Amino acid sequence: MSEEIIYRDDVTVELVKSSASDADVIWAARVSTAGEQSLDEIGEDPARSAGLINYLARERHGSPFEHTSMTFFVSAPIFVFREFMRHRIASYNEESGRYRELKPVFYIPSADRKLIQIGKTGAYTFVDGTKEQFDITVESMKIAYVAAYESYKKMLDAGVAREVARAVLPVATYSSMYVSMNARALMNFLSLRTAREGSHFPSYPQREIEMVAEKMEAEFAKLMPLTYGAFEKSGRIAP
Ligand SMILES: Cc1cc2nc3c(=O)[nH]c(=O)nc-3n(C[C@H](O)[C@H](O)[C@H](O)COP(=O)(O)OP(=O)(O)OC[C@H]3O[C@@H](n4cnc5c(N)ncnc54)[C@H](O)[C@@H]3O)c2cc1C
Repeated sequence: MSEEIIYRDDVTVELVKSSASDADVIWAARVSTAGEQSLDEIGEDPARSAGLINYLARERHGSPFEHTSMTFFVSAPIFVFREFMRHRIASYNEESGRYRELKPVFYIPSADRKLIQIGKTGAYTFVDGTKEQFDITVESMKIAYVAAYESYKKMLDAGVAREVARAVLPVATYSSMYVSMNARALMNFLSLRTAREGSHFPSYPQREIEMVAEKMEAEFAKLMPLTYGAFEKSGRIAP
């Protein structure tokens, strides 16, 4: 095979653009009582701002959090994107398998990825596998990926269209996309796609989408510290 296969166990998330601050939430909320003066009051009193944002989150008065936008560039396996794109309150653009040849970049779990699922449906926990289980996993994946990519290239070399040939590629193939979300939708995403002690509604997401969510959460916390604090205080419930 001419092209070198790349195996990855990571995901990447880059914040490419944002219009998202706690002040955006405050002016949107204050229009209720201050009308056209709502913009003038921003930044007057930080404690009051935090109090208002905590109140909005606690009472689930969610619409003021929608006047924000964060755009991320995400690189992850297709099986992560399948789950991600169930989140409808977002805008997406993903690289095309019809218009470009897909690169041989495939997911394999890292050595510390917990491999064994225990517990009942909806409340799983995961524990470490043995070294033997890890080796079997990595070896099996690599055999499948090499065979799949060879078949893909064989079809392309024979002149078959990319949109037909891609059918053989696994969901472990890496893809990339832009996703834009407002803070309210992002909090909903984080509440569902991270497993965190103390969450009011515990969630049990797939580890690989959680890896993406954790990186998005770190950017969100930097951009909107008061909103992020309120999200944490309210048990990670999206307002
Ligand atoms: C741990 C876990 C396991 C899952 N397992 C499965 C599974 O086995 N099979 C499966 O199919 N999916 C599964 N899902 C996906 C899940 O059902 C949701 O589709 C996904 O989490 C998106 O959530 P959302 O609808 O809240 O997000 P968004 O689509 O971003 O919506 C945000 C909010 O907007 C509102 N909203 C959006 N669209 C509508 C609408 N049409 N009608 C009314 N209100 C709307 C809702 O309040 C919603 O919470 C799973 C999700 C998780 C976290």
